[in-house]
Amino acid sequence: MTRLDADDAVATAPRQAQEPESGSDGPRALLLEAREVPLGGVRAMSVRRALPQRDLPLVGAWCFLDRFGPQVTRMRVEPHPHIGLQTVTWPFQGDVRHRDSIGSDVMVRRGALNLMTSGAGISHSEYSLGEEAAPLDALQLWVALPESRRHGAPAFEQHAELPQVAVPAVSGAEGAAAVVLGVFAGVASPATTFTPIVGAEIRVPAGSRLRVPLDPAWEHALVGVDGDLTVHAGDDVVLDDVHLLYLGIARDEIEVSSTGGATVFLLGGEPFEDDIVMWWNFVGRTHDEIVEARDAWEAGGERFGHVVDHGDERIPAPPLPAVRLTRRRRRV
Ligand code: MN
Repeated sequence: MTRLDADDAVATAPRQAQEPESGSDGPRALLLEAREVPLGGVRAMSVRRALPQRDLPLVGAWCFLDRFGPQVTRMRVEPHPHIGLQTVTWPFQGDVRHRDSIGSDVMVRRGALNLMTSGAGISHSEYSLGEEAAPLDALQLWVALPESRRHGAPAFEQHAELPQVAVPAVSGAEGAAAVVLGVFAGVASPATTFTPIVGAEIRVPAGSRLRVPLDPAWEHALVGVDGDLTVHAGDDVVLDDVHLLYLGIARDEIEVSSTGGATVFLLGGEPFEDDIVMWWNFVGRTHDEIVEARDAWEAGGERFGHVVDHGDERIPAPPLPAVRLTRRRRRV
């Protein structure tokens, strides 16, 4: 997925004097609404973007979360570049063909994690199969790379076999979780990570209340995927698929329940080492390095390579905003 930024004006807006410099640490139960982002053009798709939020740029190293679907569409995301991040694609429905500039050409399907590490530069495309519109639904998330890895080589990996772990019940049947990325309940995903992190899909049976284990040194958030879900975070919070619930840090568990059965995605990790600058498909630390990456993409040079089996088609970078891009930090 590519990021076409209606939100960049917000991202670079000056801080209000009365707002705190950064959020204090501790448990939170902050419900944040995803915004509808039309991707426009020939792609004719829209996505719901739950991260970044104006006051919450990161949850651990997670810096971006799009839900695209469920919808019937013909996905055509032409070659576009990335720096400084990993893309995590977690499909629910539909087949997408991923091709990139290091020669990967794979099908992205339900049950498999697709993880692309940009390092200093990669480009890729994402097309649905066939000429007709088809049902499509997935999460795509980005993980910010730490300083030690963000200047390195690009990579792509796919994992069809992910660990499944039981989630204990307070009442009703126990739940189950797929450990997509990082570590959940002491069990590690085989996928390559560079910071302490968790991404897990948790299934809550009908009529159950589960106790989801969390690392109290990490911050966490939940996003609803499907079904009815209540999060018992002090007050009871109803969580749907158009909101992200930020839980803060210093929780060692969170209880969730469902009447009819639900699926929820847990994301979290160690609070990230740096404030980041994020613009279009780039994650960096300074305005100037974003400009450098944009120039490199527009020049069509070697940095971003050439996506296998494509011709000249590519998504041009949007114009830079008139103001300098600034680092963002948590203010909740
Ligand atoms: Mn992309």
